[in-house]
Amino acid sequence: MNIEAGVLQDFVRDIFAGAGCSAAESARIARYLVAANLSGHDSHGVVRVPRYVQAKLDGKVKADQQVAVLTDTPVIAVVDGKFGFGQTVAPQAVAIGIAKCKAMGLSMVALRNAGHIGRVGDYAELAAAEGLVSIHFVNVPGSVLVAPFGGVDRRISTAPFCIGVPRPEGDAIVLDFATSVVAEGKVLVASQGGKPLPDNAMIGPDGEISGDPHLLYGDYEPDGPRDYRQGKGAIRAFGDHKGSGLALMCELLGGSLTGSGATELREIVTNGMLSFYVDPKRVDPDDFFSRDVSRYIAYLKSARPAQPGGEVLIPGEPEARTRLERLRDGIHLPEDTWAAIVATARKVGVEPPHNLVGSR
Ligand code: NAD
Repeated sequence: MNIEAGVLQDFVRDIFAGAGCSAAESARIARYLVAANLSGHDSHGVVRVPRYVQAKLDGKVKADQQVAVLTDTPVIAVVDGKFGFGQTVAPQAVAIGIAKCKAMGLSMVALRNAGHIGRVGDYAELAAAEGLVSIHFVNVPGSVLVAPFGGVDRRISTAPFCIGVPRPEGDAIVLDFATSVVAEGKVLVASQGGKPLPDNAMIGPDGEISGDPHLLYGDYEPDGPRDYRQGKGAIRAFGDHKGSGLALMCELLGGSLTGSGATELREIVTNGMLSFYVDPKRVDPDDFFSRDVSRYIAYLKSARPAQPGGEVLIPGEPEARTRLERLRDGIHLPEDTWAAIVATARKVGVEPPHNLVGSR
């Protein structure tokens, strides 16, 4: 089914309000989740609603938290998200980083104990909107899903890495990916009848490589819960030894250095994020940077396409295009995803809007 973004956002907002979040937080979570769908990352969109709500109802994630600033220097902040919703505490951490960077030209913020922060590119986009370059190392304590290069056992998280570069004209360049072949949410989406996984995404206990979501979740019903403790396999780290090495660095920097801890089995799934912010205007008052970025991007994109009719895209471009399409055409949700969201809504006393029910 296709749903208009605004209608979906209002429905998701009402679900979080029903689950006990404030009006402001409910609206914020809904905005970030729908923004992930709009950018094409359904894995980090409204498919997460059932899990987020369950985590809130179980007391594993806390409503309406304000980060605690544990260390505060002109260029460094260490902040504790206190297991608040990631969509609440991560923007607070980013705002601290932006303010320090604007004052000093450079800053670093270590965020620990955040609830799931969703699409990391959102935070690079916040910094880019202020004219800042940003680099983010993230890990996912509690979510051990990925086998390191050379191994079959789960030892690392999907540990995303992100860099954002602002452009005075046009959208920011945002490189933002999980260091696994696919993010866990993509396995979730595939298991719910969405886009199938690449056939090199997963590894079984005997080392066999496939694209089968059952290796992560074991047996499951179409609209039943997905429990990654039930599967016997793992997601693979991307890029052989290089991707696996970058994942390790996300664990050490996003996990160990932030105080979240490198990923291990534990009850609560959280995120640690180590972010660096750079103000190009301080590095380069003559503004060689933005002119050279424009020149170089044009040069890069002028490479002849590998496929007839193809083109070279830059990071962030696919998301910007998908956003335009989905704002126009609506967001497609597989039936299983929709059914799971409606079941969650009813659990917290919220009915789906009638116009949606009629249009299915
Ligand atoms: P992906 O494989 O879709 O890669 C996305 C990146 O590649 C983007 O920067 C995109 O602009 C770029 N890209 C895509 N196609 C391109 C092309 N043809 N040419 C040039 N660049 C292109 O992303 P993923 O690994 O599936 O991650 C999806 C999302 O999951 C990310 O937003 C990430 O932050 C998020 N994530 C979050 C967590 C968490 O715990 N919060 C964990 C893992 C992943």
